[in-house]
Amino acid sequence: MRVDIAVAGAGPSGATIARLLALKGWQVALIDPPGKRLDRLEVLAPSSMAIVDALSLGDVLKEPMIARPCLGIRRRWLSAEVEFDDFIRRPPGRGFVVDRRPFDDRLRSLALAAGTEFVIGRVTGIRREGDVFLLDVAGNAQASLSASVVVDATGRTAALARRLGAQRIIKERLVAQRRPIDHSSPTDGEPVWLDVEADDTSWNYATHGPDGRHESWTICREGSQPINGVPADIANASSTCLAHHAGPGWIAIGDAAAAFDPIASQGLFNALSAAVVAAGIITEHEGGITRDVALEYSAAMMSTFLHSERGRGQVYAARNLVPSNGGA
Ligand SMILES: Cc1cc2nc3c(=O)[nH]c(=O)nc-3n(C[C@H](O)[C@H](O)[C@H](O)COP(=O)(O)OP(=O)(O)OC[C@H]3O[C@@H](n4cnc5c(N)ncnc54)[C@H](O)[C@@H]3O)c2cc1C
Repeated sequence: MRVDIAVAGAGPSGATIARLLALKGWQVALIDPPGKRLDRLEVLAPSSMAIVDALSLGDVLKEPMIARPCLGIRRRWLSAEVEFDDFIRRPPGRGFVVDRRPFDDRLRSLALAAGTEFVIGRVTGIRREGDVFLLDVAGNAQASLSASVVVDATGRTAALARRLGAQRIIKERLVAQRRPIDHSSPTDGEPVWLDVEADDTSWNYATHGPDGRHESWTICREGSQPINGVPADIANASSTCLAHHAGPGWIAIGDAAAAFDPIASQGLFNALSAAVVAAGIITEHEGGITRDVALEYSAAMMSTFLHSERGRGQVYAARNLVPSNGGA
């Protein structure tokens, strides 16, 4: 199979860039393995609304099985006192709890409707031959695919970028574990809060999803608490960034480029906005990513990551939160 652009990973960043590039007339393949799918409640904070609107995703968030309005964050840091971070005070005054599985499904279907070719499989190898990249894709059968440009949207593993020689910087190794929940309440569509609590070895968040599901996750430094359970209920939550986010002919976006501590509620914003920026770069440079463009993009991604790390370090230090060795 020969395409203009191969996008590995059909999470929010990959599905979004595939849709944008297909709408521009590029021939795009979106590749994602079968089986295990992300199934988690996450928050789209008010700061994400501009990119949601720019991508015309406002109507998706009105779908009752995908998203539920979120009033804000109630934080309890090592005491009984509750801090209210009311979204109404943060322009544009609205946020959402999204159920990632139907949300991701909808982003994928928008990509397909725009003309993207969906390839079920995992990219297991990549090499450059002349002007094209050759990708090995392991799915039901072993296949290979060639593309002029490749986009790494494989999440925290950054599977392609690392195979292409980019190093990953891990600022803080964090793990998240789903906590057993005693009850769920039927959905009434009412807005909900995100509750965040911390003790001296971990912090956790809990909220209700669009279907009424009550879900909670604990985040701690790797090794600081015993983590047991089924692998589906354990997630890598490390704060990581690539040393190089792009190179001639390839670019990394979303968590593959820079992944943030979940406390920042910034991952989805980063995934969607990096997809817009990278689609703009590829289109403006007519399908080519030169060394200079790659350097400029890398510098911008790195400065966003360092800015976020500084903020994270301050939050942890001010609240005496563990893990506390974060911050750049
Ligand atoms: C516990 C936890 C809570 C979070 N809460 C929030 C929150 O409240 N708000 C928020 O904004 N963010 C939150 N995040 C961050 C958010 O989940 C990520 O930022 C977001 O998923 C990034 O999207 P992505 O498309 O870059 O990557 P992903 O969603 O990770 O998608 C990557 C895709 O790549 C595919 N893939 C992997 N390897 C390959 C391969 N070799 N070949 C082909 N495909 C491959 C995977 O199957 C997957 O579909 C949280 C993260 C964690 C861990």
